[in-house]
Amino acid sequence: MTFHSAAEAASLFARLRIDAPGGDLDSCSPIDGARIGSVRTASAADVDAAVERAHVAYLAWRSVPPPRRGELVRLFGVVLREEKEALGHLVSLETGKILQEGLGEVQEMIDICDFAVGLSRQLYGLTIATERPGHRMMETWHPLGVVGVISAFNFPVAVWAWNACLAFVCGDAVVWKPSEKTPLTAVAVQALFERAVARFGDAPADLSQVVQGGRESGVALVDHAKVALLSATGSTRMGREVAPRVAERFGRTLLELGGNNGMVVAPTADLALAERAITFAAVGTAGQRCTTLRRLFVHGDVYDRLVPRLRQIWASVAVGNPLEEGTLVGPLIDRGSFEAMQAALGRARDEGGTVQGGERLHAELSDGAYYVRPAIVEMPGQTPVTLTETFAPILYVMRYAALDEAIAAHNDAPQGLASSIFTNDIREAETFLSAAGSDCGIVNVNIGPSGAEIGGAFGGEKETGGGRESGSDAWRTYMRRATNTINYSRDLPLAQGINFNM
Ligand code: NAD
Repeated sequence: MTFHSAAEAASLFARLRIDAPGGDLDSCSPIDGARIGSVRTASAADVDAAVERAHVAYLAWRSVPPPRRGELVRLFGVVLREEKEALGHLVSLETGKILQEGLGEVQEMIDICDFAVGLSRQLYGLTIATERPGHRMMETWHPLGVVGVISAFNFPVAVWAWNACLAFVCGDAVVWKPSEKTPLTAVAVQALFERAVARFGDAPADLSQVVQGGRESGVALVDHAKVALLSATGSTRMGREVAPRVAERFGRTLLELGGNNGMVVAPTADLALAERAITFAAVGTAGQRCTTLRRLFVHGDVYDRLVPRLRQIWASVAVGNPLEEGTLVGPLIDRGSFEAMQAALGRARDEGGTVQGGERLHAELSDGAYYVRPAIVEMPGQTPVTLTETFAPILYVMRYAALDEAIAAHNDAPQGLASSIFTNDIREAETFLSAAGSDCGIVNVNIGPSGAEIGGAFGGEKETGGGRESGSDAWRTYMRRATNTINYSRDLPLAQGINFNM
């Protein structure tokens, strides 16, 4: 395995024709721990100024017809297609996800551009039956204002695009506070967006801005009265801090927080299919997806066929440099993540689990890189550690006897993001999808819980925060609704039959 991440970052910036930024906040590649660049941390005053500029941009942008707004997003999609390779590579370099996943993340940006372009002609309101003669009632959707986006390290560019592409066609301006662990990809995305703005010609300045930094910069965005919608993706801990602050000023939030995703493997499951789905969902992105499979409930009838096979896969899955072909699992983001994984495995042992894997790999090649063998842990039942999201590749496996019992255990988790069942029994599948089934925002049959398409609304319940992004009608969160009643008669009949004779 060879590492050249600092040199590769410089050459990617050159390929993207972007000046490498500089400043006090370092970005280190998890591939080898090397510093690959730096950016300047935004002060509270910088964030305030950015929001004020964004508000001015919004005031102009809101009156541009939505299909014209869609044209800007279409042009951005063209730029992304041109630069997919280099941007995807940079995503891999800064997050440590394998190149296929880095490219996939940029594809997701392109897909949401296409979706948003279509949406720009479909921001429909309703016409509503009115009880009053000579009247018409309808609802209209208007732009909302400035959208603040706070994103997590693990999807450093797609999450912004899910929010921003919808926000732009909805007539809003965006201020983005990316993760302090992945600032360079944000610089690149902003530069590519500005390229689209230049091709577009007459967009207002400052429609999209980036403010860099950690929690402090995020708080300045959270507390700003002119941020009409704060869309925050990250841990439940972060959401607990952010949500009350925004509520205090009656702002709107869209929260995409932690997950602790489960899968049920029933007696009739296609085990070959399940095995592939489990592996991708549990070890892909080194277990650092919000939708990563963390809890597996296997029926006693198939347990001894499936679990030994998973153990074999876990022991042999290729862990290494994510930029090299053949690698399926790259490094953890940093040392803190490695330590959290070791602590969780210790707790799992204390709570009766049998742990396989979890040890550090390739430590001799670089001090600052944290590669691990994915861990598979057979648990006697659902103990406290399994109900906690540890952002690392740990799969807890539990045996069950009756579907009701598995669903109840599944729903015991405080988080409610993604779930799935593998079964060929239609009664079981429909039960899992029903009101009495999985309580998650994403509920799948015969595919894993991770790797959502942008066409559906994405998000989850309970401690996942309740927000919905991306497809379906998620766009409504980025707009304000006005109910309009128009009287075209010569009378003034009052609603509820009220007689108010003067
Ligand atoms: P994190 O919570 O540490 O940080 C996320 C972002 O929030 C960062 O930009 C950080 O600077 C900012 N932040 C932290 N505290 C803040 C505060 N008090 N005020 C304002 N901003 C603050 O999360 P992370 O380690 O980057 O990402 C991993 C977590 O994100 C996991 O829990 C994962 O499940 C979750 N996640 C959820 C989704 C989803 O769609 N539900 C998607 C990706 C990641």
